Amino acid sequence: MGAGRLAGVLAALVLVAGCAAERPGPEPARPTAERPTAERPVVVLTFDDGLARQVVAGELLREHGLRATFFVSSGVLGREGRLSVAQVRALARDGHEIGGHTLTHARLGELPPERQEQEICADRRALVAMGFEVRALAYPYGSFDAHTAGIAARCGYAGARGSGRSGGGPFQVATAPAVVRGTGLEALRGYVTGAERRGDAVVVLVFHDVCARCGEYAVDPGVLDSFLGWLAERGTPVRTFSDALAAAGTAGGGAAVATPTGARAPARR
Ligand SMILES: [Zn+2]
Repeated sequence: MGAGRLAGVLAALVLVAGCAAERPGPEPARPTAERPTAERPVVVLTFDDGLARQVVAGELLREHGLRATFFVSSGVLGREGRLSVAQVRALARDGHEIGGHTLTHARLGELPPERQEQEICADRRALVAMGFEVRALAYPYGSFDAHTAGIAARCGYAGARGSGRSGGGPFQVATAPAVVRGTGLEALRGYVTGAERRGDAVVVLVFHDVCARCGEYAVDPGVLDSFLGWLAERGTPVRTFSDALAAAGTAGGGAAVATPTGARAPARR
């Protein structure tokens, strides 16, 4: 149980309007959030880019009985360093959600609408043809513009995630700062406990590669193992992106209004 020593930067959290349901009573607020409240926040674990070493994440998630969302670009699956289609299918069989990440990992916000539509829709069609139920999209590099959400909705998506600070709503769901090499166990825990203290509904974590000292956007497998074990042990609700979004929409009376509260990390990948 090695504890990461690095302090976390501020977490970006998704606040969902309505249904806070604060129970009145004499009990004072807990000074520390050792145990999560019943269903709040929901933690969403996301892994981007379909990187081959994410099979390690799949193994760790299975060990801890947790489900995640893997955002893959259909056009690069099977290439060197990427998951094969068979490996993505194995993740789906384990109960993980498979989401779209555009055909070629495009920087959508810099493309005209027609090109965005090709990147988003053709990618989703390809993933559906592979047999996946594809409801969630992650914008590569967190890049999108005023057209992107509408295009994604028309392509059949129910929601989308940027990276870090975002505009709000189900197609601009904000996330905690992307996990990088220096993100230790304490920082990861801090994203969750910070959300608990604020009473946020959802906290979305963004992972890329899974390996020790192999790149900037990588989580150490030991850190990930400890973090997942901590989540499972304390009973923190962990859901896929789409399940969390659907639940938030229901809890909020139909409108999953996402409001970022403090992302500082650069949006990448
Ligand atoms: Zn990416």
